[in-house]
Amino acid sequence: MKEKLIFDLSRKGRKGYSLSTNDIPELPLESILPSKFLRKAPAELPEVSENEVVRHFVRLSNLNYHVDKNMYPLGSCTMKYNPKINDYTCDLPGFSSLHPLQPAETTQGALQLMYELAEMLREIAGMAAVSLQPAAGAHGELTGILLIKKYHEARGSKRHKLLVVDSAHGTNPASAALAGYEIISVKGNAEGRTDLDDLRSKLDGDVAALMLTNPNTIGLFEKEIQTISTMVHNNGSLLYMDGANMNALLGITRPGDMGFDVVHYNLHKTFAAPHGGGGPGSGPVGVSEQLVPYLPVPVIEKDGDTYKLSYNRPESIGRMMNFYGNFAVLVRAYTYIRMLGPDGLRRVSENAIINANYLLSLLLESYDLPYPKPVMHEFCLSGDRQKKAHGVRTLDIAKRLLDYGFHAPTIYFPLIVSEALMIEPTETESKETLDIFAEALLSIAREAEAEPDTVRSAPMTTPVKRLDEAAASRQLNICCSI
Ligand SMILES: *Cc1c(COP(=O)(O)O)cnc(C)c1O
Repeated sequence: MKEKLIFDLSRKGRKGYSLSTNDIPELPLESILPSKFLRKAPAELPEVSENEVVRHFVRLSNLNYHVDKNMYPLGSCTMKYNPKINDYTCDLPGFSSLHPLQPAETTQGALQLMYELAEMLREIAGMAAVSLQPAAGAHGELTGILLIKKYHEARGSKRHKLLVVDSAHGTNPASAALAGYEIISVKGNAEGRTDLDDLRSKLDGDVAALMLTNPNTIGLFEKEIQTISTMVHNNGSLLYMDGANMNALLGITRPGDMGFDVVHYNLHKTFAAPHGGGGPGSGPVGVSEQLVPYLPVPVIEKDGDTYKLSYNRPESIGRMMNFYGNFAVLVRAYTYIRMLGPDGLRRVSENAIINANYLLSLLLESYDLPYPKPVMHEFCLSGDRQKKAHGVRTLDIAKRLLDYGFHAPTIYFPLIVSEALMIEPTETESKETLDIFAEALLSIAREAEAEPDTVRSAPMTTPVKRLDEAAASRQLNICCSI
């Protein structure tokens, strides 16, 4: 009876779409909701024509900047093109009309998709098991760190320190702090990679784990990863990989093979779900064998041809999210992976790396590169030259790029590069687009020399001109009249 009620809630319009709704007799609304919750009169909604609604949203979408408009070189964010087929599949009624409380017998397709996606991600990263629950990369980090905490607690150990490399994304120390750890920073060396001597000096009996991003945020592969893994494990600590940069590794190498115990994926980056503006994301977590018992519940299990949600996990860290994760993002990632297949995924990473190195080679004549090339999927330039010689800061260069019709790169991150301009072109940009983008940045470098005020007062062509960002973040006025 319960499932019938749940289906019946959607009887307006959606009936007949999916599952076995046709067999279910309609029930009066009063039998589902207490009468005090039912409307007495229709809601007063504004009367607008379809034409007005469409124009309103098209106008908003034109004011906005998005990857469907032009290249989005935001380093570390992997703003690749999001194939529209991903939206088509996640909008299929069998997926989009589901209710999270439906019984598992009626959601076998969704469970199968989640099970298979977890299996594919497991294989891609070479881990023992994957949980799809976390809602974003940072949430995946928190989940992974809680798994590490549980692992040590189960062994009676009270390790309270977490090592984080100084080029790490800010979410790494934030997640570690949220899980109650003391954060110890590990230095990078002159090459921009983890300094092994510094790491050795900080590995003591209190260290629960080392968090590492590979390739790191300046786009460099940690060549000594196997040595690092041995050092960390010999110390009884675990190794966590921030996998936000998996776009550089698909089909080429795997975190599990490098010795990582935990990795989080950013499905909204590597696996092409639209993101930005805060959500929705998905940050599944892959773990090595010894952490499997602690994975969040529910775990999706396959029993013959049947899929089910298992809560029978006495050692689990518990739930990390209500229900089962951001399901629509999971459907998009599944579609993307199935569409490309293993060879296609490898091509993604190869082309991402080629694009980054090609673009870098075009920019080197005008911008400084603090750490040596070649890079993986992204690189980090410094605007020091422009600042010292012409008083033009990286912020100004980023703002001026908007006038050239591009989104700005990531700036002032990672903190180890002064006046940082961190650029990730992704594999989905053509050579022509990369050439035009490079020419824009080279042109801005010439402007910085000849007419620095133009760069300093940019942008001039955007709906909103230069903001007083400090004031804007303190006096948030979201009702701006454009
Ligand atoms: C994006 C990113 C994160 C955080 O992921 P969210 O999904 O934004 O929470 C962590 N680390 C790195 C290197 C990233 O690029």
